[in-house]
Amino acid sequence: MSKNKLLYEGKAKQLFTTDKDDQLIQFFKDDATAFNKKKHEIINSKGVLNNLISENIFKYLGENGIPNHFIRRLNEREQLIKKVEIIPIEVVVRNKAAGTFTKRFGIEEGLDLPETLIEFNLKDDEHDDPLISDEHIKVFKWANQSEIDDIKIKAILINKYLTELFNQIDILLVDFKIEFGRFSSNGKTEIILADEISPDSCRLWDTKSNEKLDKDRFRRNLGGLIEAYKEVATRLEIDLSNF
Ligand code: UDP
Repeated sequence: MSKNKLLYEGKAKQLFTTDKDDQLIQFFKDDATAFNKKKHEIINSKGVLNNLISENIFKYLGENGIPNHFIRRLNEREQLIKKVEIIPIEVVVRNKAAGTFTKRFGIEEGLDLPETLIEFNLKDDEHDDPLISDEHIKVFKWANQSEIDDIKIKAILINKYLTELFNQIDILLVDFKIEFGRFSSNGKTEIILADEISPDSCRLWDTKSNEKLDKDRFRRNLGGLIEAYKEVATRLEIDLSNF
């Protein structure tokens, strides 16, 4: 598969065109950013671990009937994905209070939410990814009502499967962020899961020790980020022998 031109560069990934119009290469960088890029570091081999972990999770979700963009992993930093039109919304799913949610409502980290909460943030770094409602999404035509309904159903299902997956390996899924895109083929368009799912985009706590196994280690200067990501990969039974 030949890698052609750089189509998009984000904080932690690059997207390249390929010889096929409907396929892209997703490259995982080592950049770690937080607080809308105010904190930025290169963390050696983070991209390699996220590529492996995201591959594992997208395959698992695919096996459970969640349509997604993953086709196959090409090498340690790259995967071949379906080209989608990204819906410019970060879909955040929360099982427990953490991060910006605790700050917004002045509540304690770790508080159980009586039911799973879905929030939407606009993907707009310039305006600090504002929290938006279904109404904003419709007024600005980022998605229509049936797409919003579809996204919510898929987000809840993804939460169910991921919670089960992580539970089995003694990890609590506190919250996570996912993105969706429109994938068109044979004149039909469907909403599929895109982007990545990794410890960069999830809060993962060890169920016994409550230790953080995710990007909060970077956000809060706790150290040991690579060790934590490796621990997640190992518990997912990902082969790290070439790592
Ligand atoms: N998240 C993400 N990218 C973002 C913002 C959040 O992947 O740009 C993830 C984050 O890792 C966490 C969840 O979404 O698992 C909820 O994050 P929150 O809104 O609490 O914001 P944060 O505290 O991460 O800034």
